[in-house]
Amino acid sequence: MNKAFLLTGGNLGDRVNNMKYCSFLIEKSCGALIKKSSLYETAAWGKKDQPDFLNQVLLIDTPLTPESLLSALLTIEQQMGRYRGEKYGPRIIDIDILLYNDEVISEPRLTIPHPRMQERRFVLEPINEIAPGMIHPVLHKSMLQLLKECSDPLAVHKKLVWV
Ligand code: AMP
Repeated sequence: MNKAFLLTGGNLGDRVNNMKYCSFLIEKSCGALIKKSSLYETAAWGKKDQPDFLNQVLLIDTPLTPESLLSALLTIEQQMGRYRGEKYGPRIIDIDILLYNDEVISEPRLTIPHPRMQERRFVLEPINEIAPGMIHPVLHKSMLQLLKECSDPLAVHKKLVWV
């Protein structure tokens, strides 16, 4: 089995329920959920005139290869009504693969580790809640070190809701 860290996020509709439904669908089609972070709320990155985002990091145990995991996640996004509009625009759900074991993948359709994870506080805060000692296989730094060095100015707030 393989360990994959995923980031889910969205800023449209019933955000909390969308996140819950998304992790339910991931567990159903991608593999067992081992750990999940709290939900974190952040102002939108890139394009600012839109609702705040909720984000969550999930750790799953998956039999799927990275490529087939990506396909399964894209299917879940479609199933949940994801409409691919403008880059950085509002969305019901977005799912990214952050890490897959300690593999480094650079393909047209898939880059792992996720190339921008170290720049974003909304990734680093939730992943630190569940795996602060995890080592980034390219930067060779722990998630805790990456969070300490992160200069992303956007504040991230933990939401006190059950997920
Ligand atoms: P977006 O949903 O706009 O963030 O972009 C999704 C697209 O990014 C997918 O169709 C993938 O082909 C591509 N992609 C590249 N690397 C990753 C990754 N690590 N996780 C998810 N999508 C990725």
